[in-house]
Amino acid sequence: MSPITHLLASWSMAEGTGLDRRDRAAVAWVGLAPDLDGLGVLPDLVARLLGMGDPALYGRLHHALLHGLLGALLLPACALAVAHRRVRTFLLGVAVVHLHLLCDLVGSRGPDREDIWPIAYLAPFSDAWTFAWSGQWPLNAWPNVLLTLALVAFVFVRAATAGHSPVQLFCEKAHTAFVATVQARWRQMRRRT
Ligand SMILES: [Zn+2]
Repeated sequence: MSPITHLLASWSMAEGTGLDRRDRAAVAWVGLAPDLDGLGVLPDLVARLLGMGDPALYGRLHHALLHGLLGALLLPACALAVAHRRVRTFLLGVAVVHLHLLCDLVGSRGPDREDIWPIAYLAPFSDAWTFAWSGQWPLNAWPNVLLTLALVAFVFVRAATAGHSPVQLFCEKAHTAFVATVQARWRQMRRRT
């Protein structure tokens, strides 16, 4: 699925867990982090632009380095460096990486019809436990759009009722303005009903 959907899903999963703001943010970022193995697209592009051939790092590493057990242990372990409640943050990190894997397994096909992305759970050490689902839908399919819209709706509910938002992952000032606006509208709506 798209990085935005992954980030919203892991942010949502961290809500209501009793973790503080910093630990929830760590869990949210961990849920997105498996896609770091797709950054090979940048050196691929630079190499092609410089006429140095195509190292095909994206094709070789994406879904083959951090989309499995290695990522599910390594990425939450990185979050321990900043977490306050370490055990809970680590376990939630393991859970959101697996949620990421599940989302990619069901909805990351494309662009061709036959282009199904498998999840090689033990990669890069072994090809065993490689999973693929023949019903995998494309990245821009309606279930992905629907899930993203549902997550965005949850963001508004949490902003209105708890003063939390994923905007805080990027900018504190923008988060404060976003929450204030949503809560003002929420109060207006409640007065009318
Ligand atoms: Zn992914």
